[in-house]
Amino acid sequence: MKKKIVTTLAFTLIIVASLLVIFAPSKNKNNSKISIVTSNVILKSMVNSIGGKYVQVSSLTTNGSEIHDFNPTPSQIKKLTQADLYIKNGLGLEPKLNDKPKKTLVASEGILSVKFKDGNKNPHAYLSFLGISTYLKNITSELIEIDTSHKSFYEANLKNQLIELQKLEKKYLSKDHDFTIVTDEDAFAYLAKELKFDNQFVEQILSNQSVSPKKMADFINQLKKEKNVKLLSSANESSKTLQTIGDGIDKKISGSVFVDGLDNKKDYLQTFKENLEVIYE
Ligand SMILES: [Zn+2]
Repeated sequence: MKKKIVTTLAFTLIIVASLLVIFAPSKNKNNSKISIVTSNVILKSMVNSIGGKYVQVSSLTTNGSEIHDFNPTPSQIKKLTQADLYIKNGLGLEPKLNDKPKKTLVASEGILSVKFKDGNKNPHAYLSFLGISTYLKNITSELIEIDTSHKSFYEANLKNQLIELQKLEKKYLSKDHDFTIVTDEDAFAYLAKELKFDNQFVEQILSNQSVSPKKMADFINQLKKEKNVKLLSSANESSKTLQTIGDGIDKKISGSVFVDGLDNKKDYLQTFKENLEVIYE
């Protein structure tokens, strides 16, 4: 009789245990990684810094290729629609897609946009302190929503990234900001506003893709009045216009910055640090 009770009890326990396994809340089938497609490698690096081993991230654009108004290929679109999540920058950076991803996160959500001179939003918020921290927080919230079981892992990664970022911000806020940078595109508008240096760019002297001679002369004359001008080219791109400006104000290009991509094999934060070093050199 006792043996029968024990057997029945054991059997019941096995059933209960099996049911628990079957109905246990799981983030996604087969405990696989969250599949994520980002629009560019900067976002991909940010997602990896938070998601680590629990995410599988690919980017629609490669490092060094055009990230403004790119055209995804049919195979990329397929990958995009199959992924658990599509993460884009927003602020007008990406093209509108006809095929809808399962879920989309706009990483810049909540950022007060800076406008270009033509009135459009400047998408380069990822090159600023507030921008990066906002992107990371949005990414973390989204990962937790999809995969609650690793909430503390994502939150710990976020905390570490934010500590690094705060240290960096503190360091650069205490520096001398009395200088003007001249770059090819208007990519440092957010950072210039945060750190209070002056930001000029070649794009503003273009009319219909070519440099207007009158605007160029005015631009050079205006720069001659500034006392600490730094000409910064975009990495992996040669800017003849920037060179001409340099000849006009008798200055050499003093460094190169990563505007729409990452330094080779480096993550978004290391690349951001390198940009700051070049800007404040
Ligand atoms: Zn850009």
